[in-house]
Amino acid sequence: MEQEKRDIRSLHLDELTEYVVSLGEKKFRAKQIYQWLHLKQVSDFDRMTNLPKNLLHILSEQCVIRELKKEAVQTSKQDGTKKYLFILPDGNRIESVLMRYKHGNSVCISSQAGCRMGCRFCASALGGLARGLTASEMLGQVYQIGQDTGERISNVVVMGMGEPLDNYENLVRFIRLLTDENGLHISQRNVTVSTCGLVPEMCRLADEAFSITLALSLHAPDQEKRRKLMPVAERYGLGEVMEACRYYFERTGRRVTFEYSLMKGFNDTPEDANALSALVKGDMRGIPCHVNLIPVNPVREREYRQPGAADVAAFKNKLEKNGINVTIRREMGRDIDGACGQLRRRYAEQ
Ligand code: SAH
Repeated sequence: MEQEKRDIRSLHLDELTEYVVSLGEKKFRAKQIYQWLHLKQVSDFDRMTNLPKNLLHILSEQCVIRELKKEAVQTSKQDGTKKYLFILPDGNRIESVLMRYKHGNSVCISSQAGCRMGCRFCASALGGLARGLTASEMLGQVYQIGQDTGERISNVVVMGMGEPLDNYENLVRFIRLLTDENGLHISQRNVTVSTCGLVPEMCRLADEAFSITLALSLHAPDQEKRRKLMPVAERYGLGEVMEACRYYFERTGRRVTFEYSLMKGFNDTPEDANALSALVKGDMRGIPCHVNLIPVNPVREREYRQPGAADVAAFKNKLEKNGINVTIRREMGRDIDGACGQLRRRYAEQ
């Protein structure tokens, strides 16, 4: 059965080498296979033309290259953002986004099909979790988008569907493969992982000593408000979460990003801005950090609305006056199904 076959694109080079040697082959064959998988990015063993026929036969019997199927692409007329809907080998659907910035192309990938974190403003949470993605399925999104556009991808953000730290082992495997010098070799500094705040896994990630950026989905200036938005806050209080952010900086030297989604009448007042400033300054104790403001993306099934542009600007100014490093996230692809998970929902309803 397909499922029982080895997921060969999820293997690190040393694991692949061990496997190839166990088949009685020379070590260098592993490097050749790895290049076919991660540089030429073939989806078929038959295309690995410099390998002996008998080895290809064994590989195709014992292994599988987990390919994603492109089901739909939407391109924004405003800014060239492209949103992809992919079907996984087992039929689950996920979304990925290509964003074009002056500093290069950034791909936003999904880490799970669905999500079980249940954030109240998020479309991905609506159908619950189907499963976590394999490392090869996360890589597949980056590879396919690179091939589709023929353009270089310099940044990868794990901010699509799912909670990456709820799929920890596969995520770490993916980061190693993505940044491996024998593969696509994306710089770890250009990789960002966003979490809703799973404290033990945040600390574990800090201990991996990657130089990736950690983004925390904060969205509220205090525990009470955060609990109303994010069920995960029942498990891990704001104090603990901020401590984990500090620990992340201490271990990695990387500044932490806080994501704050502005929701009209809920967390967008001047008092909220002051409370957020005090939280970030106080709990981070002068450690470098950055606040990213995102006017909430309205989701049909959800009640939250965006504040007006003047309120967003006033919120930002207040933070700046308080000495906080802040940007307003440029809204990309407003004219295509904006918020994560919305394109998938539209297809799932059909
Ligand atoms: N599970 C991870 C990453 C996925 S979501 C996390 O929670 O961080 C990526 C970011 O988009 C998170 O900050 C998430 O809170 C935010 N988000 C989700 N739905 C949104 C919406 N409707 N409008 C604005 N931001 C949203």
